[in-house]
Amino acid sequence: MPLTRFFSASLRLCGLIFILTLGIAAQKVPEPKDVLGFTPGDDRKLAAWSQIVEYFKRLDAASDRVTFEEIGKTTMEAPFVYATISSPENLKNLERIRNINAMLADPRKIKSSDLLAKKYIAQGKTIVLITCGIHSTEVGSTLSSMLIAHRLASSNDPEVQNILKNTIVLLVPSLNPDGVDIVKNWYDKTLGTPYEGTEPPELYHKYVGHDNNRDWYAFTQVETQLTVEKIHNVWHPQIVHDIHQQGAYGSRLFLPPYMQPVEPNVPKQIVEGFTELGNYIAADLRKKGFQGITTNSTYDAWTPARAYSHYHGGVRILSETASAKLATPITVTFDQLRGGEGYDSKKESPNFGPVWKGGEWKLRNITDTMTTAAFSLMDHAADNRTKWLDRFYRIGKEAVRGRKKGETYAYIIEWSGGNPWNLRGPLEYAGVEIEQVAEFSYNGKQYPDRTWIVRMNQPYGVFAKTMIEPQPYPTLLDDKGNPIAPYDVTAHSLALLTNTKVTKVESPIRFSEPPLSAGSGMGTGMGSDRKYVKLIYRSYVPSMDEGWTRWVLEKNLFEIEFKLGRRISFEPGLNPRLLKGDLWPDVETIIFPDQSANSILNGYAKGSMPEEYTGGLGKEGASRLRKFVEDGGTLIFLNRSTEFAIQQFGLPVKDVTKGLARKDFYIPGSILRTEIDTTNPVAKNMPAESIAWYENSPAFEIQTDPLALANNFRIIARYPSDPKKILLSGWALGAEKIAGKAALVEFKMGKGKIYLFGFRPQYRAQSVATFPLFFNAISN
Ligand SMILES: [Zn+2]
Repeated sequence: MPLTRFFSASLRLCGLIFILTLGIAAQKVPEPKDVLGFTPGDDRKLAAWSQIVEYFKRLDAASDRVTFEEIGKTTMEAPFVYATISSPENLKNLERIRNINAMLADPRKIKSSDLLAKKYIAQGKTIVLITCGIHSTEVGSTLSSMLIAHRLASSNDPEVQNILKNTIVLLVPSLNPDGVDIVKNWYDKTLGTPYEGTEPPELYHKYVGHDNNRDWYAFTQVETQLTVEKIHNVWHPQIVHDIHQQGAYGSRLFLPPYMQPVEPNVPKQIVEGFTELGNYIAADLRKKGFQGITTNSTYDAWTPARAYSHYHGGVRILSETASAKLATPITVTFDQLRGGEGYDSKKESPNFGPVWKGGEWKLRNITDTMTTAAFSLMDHAADNRTKWLDRFYRIGKEAVRGRKKGETYAYIIEWSGGNPWNLRGPLEYAGVEIEQVAEFSYNGKQYPDRTWIVRMNQPYGVFAKTMIEPQPYPTLLDDKGNPIAPYDVTAHSLALLTNTKVTKVESPIRFSEPPLSAGSGMGTGMGSDRKYVKLIYRSYVPSMDEGWTRWVLEKNLFEIEFKLGRRISFEPGLNPRLLKGDLWPDVETIIFPDQSANSILNGYAKGSMPEEYTGGLGKEGASRLRKFVEDGGTLIFLNRSTEFAIQQFGLPVKDVTKGLARKDFYIPGSILRTEIDTTNPVAKNMPAESIAWYENSPAFEIQTDPLALANNFRIIARYPSDPKKILLSGWALGAEKIAGKAALVEFKMGKGKIYLFGFRPQYRAQSVATFPLFFNAISN
């Protein structure tokens, strides 16, 4: 037998033995490139959502370590999916493992017995949820999800075996599947042109763009709802790994612990957990040769909007890897490296290092960093299984223990003010138990039957507390006395945002069940008529507020039509329509969401994007808008866009915050008190005192000298003249600067009207308290 034949025969024999010993399945586990045609992380290659779904389906079919399921549809009807990965034995016992975890999550189920808990901890598994791709231009994580899944499904090395045996890994390849294709389509369209690697000229989520990870307490978007309802609330993970990318010129990788401030309701065991795990991964990656790693910098843990798990027994391990230009490599010189809040990229320090000297940075660096960090995280979850489960149990036990006198015992949700369902809905979504109780009295006040109460001693009582109480954000100043910017906004009290009155109960009350009775019905009815158009301005420089505006208006279309008594439609007002289209008479209102005046006026500069996406409304657009109002139309400007109106129409208004130094005036996303002129039709159904979501906002002073205009404006909302009364929740430095100033003004111009909202009345779909002002302005 010639040598080659012998060789191939013995190879075949080896192969046969291999198949017989290891089983056919292990041999057939597909690699990502078998489906995609490339390996995730290759330069200039992005995968379509359908390919990613196909890959996971094939993994599920080939491997007994993977199950994969569709749990719903995205906003744009794509499949929303996740994979469950563990040892074949664990996958057969999933139901039991889930039940064990549910008992540890809610120790009332085992009467908080430490003995029983110990037994279940011995049998339980660490639940690890890995979420990728919430921000679709951060392309690395969705690609890495396939590399992570492939290794878990195919490798027999001890590290992987240990993970499979001790953990249940829930892997979400993308929290925003629609965006995967929006970004890929744009990337492929511009590939090889001067615009390769630019960001798409539209939001990468139909409504909310990048704000999709600011939705984890209001739960407005279907992707958030599916993740919370079908993954978090079913599995109660101890560890949530949320994989992101940051800018290209800072650290190569951020990991927890988070910077101060940490929101005070976050349990101390959570802080202990994310500190231990973040530091472990950072040390492990340094050992493996990764550079430029920072912890305890840039990202704080203040807002629950990004951290559902912090109020549900699980740590959130945010990782932020440096970006390239989508899938296109870049070169970063040492000089281009910048520091961030809490570290310097060019200098080693206790929370940063070793220094990365610069050089080429490409998608492969990103996927290598992400997959290595994810495995490091899973190693820790597996090696410390009982520690994670014990910590999880202790959080639950503290949550459900009886409250003593002087502690917050419960909250009473009152029926005065707004519609308390706006608060109750999100609380219940997050697993908070709300009881209807029989009549009772507290502090001398009599409460009727079916009053809603929220007890503190329940698994997610801290979530309720965080949503109900106002936030006192700490005054954080640097050594020069300048405010240190929070990572995001500083307030999140849903009770205030929804105008729901809540009373705190500080002594134990015995509540009893209410008597039975029937529910209520609701009338409908609307004559069909000609449809009038309300345009929402949409710039090619995407504005998340535009998306939120669209979402809020579509959701409340019926209510607005009801006010008007006729049918309307909301349509996008893109530059071409406003510059050339026939606006009048069908269009009766144009709404400008929060966006800078410069961005509305000028848009993208020529040469920075393909020609058709450049430019703004310009002078021509402004004069067409002026004519539109003079002929009887209504213009509504929200927050920063008010400056466009003031400049372009020469309105006699001054923004008193303009030019103020940060040191003297700083309100970075807070809830302020406003006083309302309830005689104005726009204030219909509003109380005399309300709120304003204040973030990069103006405050108006009317310049009284142009006599002709004196009767042509009305102030509908203003800030209290006593500065101490202005802040309701969050942080306000120099509030006296806006004391007594106007927050909402109406101007008459010709036959039409202009509304200047110096705040965001529809902020992230959360500021329900001020929706009526907005809807009334639209239908006035
Ligand atoms: Zn991100």
